[in-house]
Amino acid sequence: MDISVVVPLYNEEESLPELTAWIKRVMDAHNFSYEIVLVDDGSKDKSWQVIQSLKEGDENIIGIRFRRNYGKSAALNVGFAAAEGDVVITMDADLQDSPDEIPELYDRIKNQGADLVSGWKKKRYDPLTKTIPTKLFNSVTRSMSGIDNLHDFNCGLKAYKKDVVKSIEVYGEMHRYIPVLAKWAGFSNIQEQVVQHYPRKYGTTKFGPGRFVKGFLDLMSIFFVGKFAKRPMHFFGPLGVISFLLGFIITIWLICEKLMSIANGTVYRNVTDQPLFFLALVAIIIGSQMFLTGFVAELVSRNGTDRNKYHVDQVI
Ligand code: UDP
Ligand code: MG
Repeated sequence: MDISVVVPLYNEEESLPELTAWIKRVMDAHNFSYEIVLVDDGSKDKSWQVIQSLKEGDENIIGIRFRRNYGKSAALNVGFAAAEGDVVITMDADLQDSPDEIPELYDRIKNQGADLVSGWKKKRYDPLTKTIPTKLFNSVTRSMSGIDNLHDFNCGLKAYKKDVVKSIEVYGEMHRYIPVLAKWAGFSNIQEQVVQHYPRKYGTTKFGPGRFVKGFLDLMSIFFVGKFAKRPMHFFGPLGVISFLLGFIITIWLICEKLMSIANGTVYRNVTDQPLFFLALVAIIIGSQMFLTGFVAELVSRNGTDRNKYHVDQVI
């Protein structure tokens, strides 16, 4: 099969018939063999009934329904597991992304060697409250991940080589960082394509302003997990050593100062009367805590089932 289109959806009953018809039109015009994997993320409206009736007239449609709402990442993860096409395309259900982009995305993966092509909504039809924080988010992600050619990490429209989606695991709200996950998994040919973007036609956005707070927290965990999950002591160790040494040096200094003042017979304030003493105390305690955390994290990661899971590209 050429293409799997994976569509995560939550309460999008009005959009689905239009979306699937549009995808079908594009696929038929280019003679692609395809499937549309509609993952219903526990919708409370009639989305599932709509999917059922769409499936009746069309064997290219696959419907998967969650019992409750788990989030876009979970829906994508399940869709990725089900996808069988050589090229996997993800797309939002709300008609903000255009299926007309599919042929070019497909060509980039299939014939131009890309592992992942991410859409770039160069001209966006979203409110300013969303576009400005998004710019900030993208520039931070760009510099932290080293993927400096992407302008728009969170675009719903993306294309993947099948290997990529079978190698990565999207959970929590990590769908914003799929290019980063792909890079960690060793797929380096990550490209971008300017895509057409439309205003939301039906329904409302499913993500509130909390998306930015969660987004940045996820960014931190993703870098921690990606870099240090298999060697947590390399993260906690140096921090612990620095903090402990700092506290230790200050303590030595305080003791020397005290002894000198006694030797010289000068009246001197109590050790506990100066701020440095408390700083030293806190630094030593935090330092040893960091170290202990490092050890515990090492033990945990050693017991992780994927401690020896590596992505093998080829064996001959
Ligand atoms: N979505 C989902 N589960 C959720 C929230 C959203 O599957 O819990 C889907 C939603 O139906 C849509 C896509 O994720 O197909 C993007 O959501 P939305 O359009 O609300 O995001 P925005 O365009 O505002 O970033
Ligand atoms: Mg949308």
